[in-house]
Amino acid sequence: MKVIRFEDNNGNILLGEQVDERTARLIKGDLFGDWEVTGGTATIKRLLAPVQPVNVIAIGLNYRRHAAESGAQIPSEPLVFVKLTTSVIGPGDEIVLPASAPEEVDYEAELAVVIGRTARKVSEADALKYVLGYMCANDVSARDCQIRRDKQWARAKGFDTFCPLGPCLLVDPQVNPNSFPIRTRLNGELMQNSNTADMIFPVPFLVSYLSNQFTLLPGTVILTGTPEGVGCARKPPVFLKPGDTVSVELEGIGTLTNPVVADRA
Ligand code: ZN
Repeated sequence: MKVIRFEDNNGNILLGEQVDERTARLIKGDLFGDWEVTGGTATIKRLLAPVQPVNVIAIGLNYRRHAAESGAQIPSEPLVFVKLTTSVIGPGDEIVLPASAPEEVDYEAELAVVIGRTARKVSEADALKYVLGYMCANDVSARDCQIRRDKQWARAKGFDTFCPLGPCLLVDPQVNPNSFPIRTRLNGELMQNSNTADMIFPVPFLVSYLSNQFTLLPGTVILTGTPEGVGCARKPPVFLKPGDTVSVELEGIGTLTNPVVADRA
């Protein structure tokens, strides 16, 4: 089932199961408790990020060819960082190139995992029982801050609008999260083209590993790393510019598209 959060024509923020581009069957209840799809329907005016994360935990260098293009060793354990919850935006929302670092902003297509119930020290075998579903994410990154200007990644990965999520939350307990074709298109041109099967640390391992470091609360979003083809590793490098449109596609989930704009403030 594809669960969406959306605004209807009356400005109500609602949860639903997407029927088509315009229509959703309403969901009653709490995605992190009891919920059900009702008989009622509503018109979708605008899609929102499917969840409002309590934490966003992210993994660096989790695809072999991306580690290689970054000139990094294959990590022996996951490289963990966090993104700010204030960086989350939804489908169609603008990615703003920040005034303090507008020149080297890059895309990263990622599979996002949403934790459904509290996970602490769970085994790899049990890990997927704690997952509510899957979304597309774009781990937008200011490479100048990430690589040269700052000693760590908080600012580079945490600017407002740097965490597009959506377009829906795929809720399917049977799906193998390490089987999705994953792509980025920049202004229609294919930039990243891989499969989540190529992760160094697959989703069950990541959920178990992270739950042994931190309590994963319901509503935690885990970004699982990006494949090769990021803009900064291209020759010449490609960075986001005002007027660009960037799309992250996970086949079986959907396509998350966002326009890019300059900071107007
Ligand atoms: Zn990333």
